[in-house]
Amino acid sequence: MKIIGVGRNYTDHIKELQNEKPSEPVIFLKPNTSLLKNNSPFYHPDFSNNIHYETELVLRISKEGKNIEEKFAGKYFDGIGIGIDFTARDLQDKAKEKGLPWTLAKGFNGSAPVSEILPLSNFSDLKNIHFSLKINNEERQKAHSGMMLFTFERIISYISKFILLKKGDLIFTGTPAGVDKIKIGDKLEAYIENEKMLEVEIK
Ligand code: MG
Repeated sequence: MKIIGVGRNYTDHIKELQNEKPSEPVIFLKPNTSLLKNNSPFYHPDFSNNIHYETELVLRISKEGKNIEEKFAGKYFDGIGIGIDFTARDLQDKAKEKGLPWTLAKGFNGSAPVSEILPLSNFSDLKNIHFSLKINNEERQKAHSGMMLFTFERIISYISKFILLKKGDLIFTGTPAGVDKIKIGDKLEAYIENEKMLEVEIK
């Protein structure tokens, strides 16, 4: 499986990092070794002093597809979970400055904690899925899927023009405002609606 990330998909987050609004989805990859499951702890690496959390809805691809038309894209995912797109902001800022790839800033070990994936039947309206993040019991991010610049269908259609999607692939769909640095000892808790889906301790 592979993990595909979408950057700059929420206007309020684009503003907080002073990025430009993209005309097409911004796509990057995280290797499958970045996946962290079962509420495993995250061990803070020493190559970064500024790892940010980014809470995101995560789509699970249900069948192989390429050049998927947007109107059919809804048939290519079967579940939604929540994940944290950990980002070494210091490394990313350096890379951005020089126009270099984000691979190490986004793809380090354990940089993609993901919850259990809920079947689509759990959701009555895909354009109105609320999610949030608490750190040490304080709410830090809160948004809903209707705030995305690019819809789930648009993202899947766009990626599939370039990259063959396969069953089991995960797509991180972008983060809203409120990103910030993690520190050792923090306890992150991510929610879909009012249900706690994911817990990550920073060690
Ligand atoms: Mg992200």
